[in-house]
Amino acid sequence: MHPLLRYTLDLFGAPAPAPAPSPQGRAARPKPPGAQASDPKPSKAPKLPKEHKPAPPLAPKALQTPAQTPTPEAQARAPFIAAPAGFAGPAPTGSARPQAGAPSDAPQFAHPQASRQLHLGGVLVAYALARGKRRTIGMVVGPEGLSVRAPRWTPLHEIDAALQEKARWIVRKLQETTVRRSQQIERQIVWEQGAVFPFLGQTLCVQLAGAGGVTRLGDAPLDAGSGAVRPLHLPLPATASATQIRAAVRAWLLLQAQQVFTARLDHFAPLLQVRWKQLGLSNAATRWGSARSDGSIRLNWRLMHFELPVLDYVVAHELSHLRVMNHSPRFWDTVGSVVPDYAALRARLKDDSVPRW
Ligand SMILES: [Zn+2]
Repeated sequence: MHPLLRYTLDLFGAPAPAPAPSPQGRAARPKPPGAQASDPKPSKAPKLPKEHKPAPPLAPKALQTPAQTPTPEAQARAPFIAAPAGFAGPAPTGSARPQAGAPSDAPQFAHPQASRQLHLGGVLVAYALARGKRRTIGMVVGPEGLSVRAPRWTPLHEIDAALQEKARWIVRKLQETTVRRSQQIERQIVWEQGAVFPFLGQTLCVQLAGAGGVTRLGDAPLDAGSGAVRPLHLPLPATASATQIRAAVRAWLLLQAQQVFTARLDHFAPLLQVRWKQLGLSNAATRWGSARSDGSIRLNWRLMHFELPVLDYVVAHELSHLRVMNHSPRFWDTVGSVVPDYAALRARLKDDSVPRW
């Protein structure tokens, strides 16, 4: 039997960088605590060849999309993705800015298992210290903060001196980790009356319309500008829980995805002279789509958070696999024959701006 070929498209591109290795004691470095926390969840789908990383051949210059200036709509959308209650700003655990000469009493960075603290370039850092059978001092900056491992008998002042030596590196990594975490929090949708989320280049706003009726997408207010927010009326009472609201939005999005994907597959398949047989909706954490040589296509319903051209790129990408089952130059030529500016669109998929569910 002909082996069933299948190719997939990565959702997040390159994995989020793991906590940077310590400049010293690399071999003996302990596994960073919770190093995977900031990475996308592994897909449940079987391990399959991933999209290879080399940059695709660029589309001819004239055909590339010009760099887009942020539209009023895009600017309007950002503040609507509500941060969870209690989240007060971009750096929840204290801003990481070193304040020369004015260290505060509370550590600016504190590991939950911190047992010691010290000033590193004016920044008070509380870190977790573990002793063990090892020869070198190892330090790791993970999502929780700084953890240090040291040989059993190394005096504390030697450990502090080793940390001082790497102070700049440690503080920079702590700052980067904090920023990354706050960005993830900002993208998390809080499912409540008035919650907003992106949908095919528009912004939708959840309206609890009362029990009974059907989910209905309303029109934007007539006098509103191009960045207008459209109400999504859900048949739920004002007392509906976040879980109920989330489930209702998800069900509606799945329905929209089925319709839009089908229409776009039907649009691109004849242009590429291929036949698709079956559409499956996926929610894989790490990929946007996949194609099998038997003509079945799977597409991630969360693509509905992007503008149509981005979604079109993924549809064309998967359909192109029905002609070329790899990521060779011939494959990219095939994609480019129907989506000339695919390189720019592909980059949009990787900027990771899609909200978290
Ligand atoms: Zn592919």
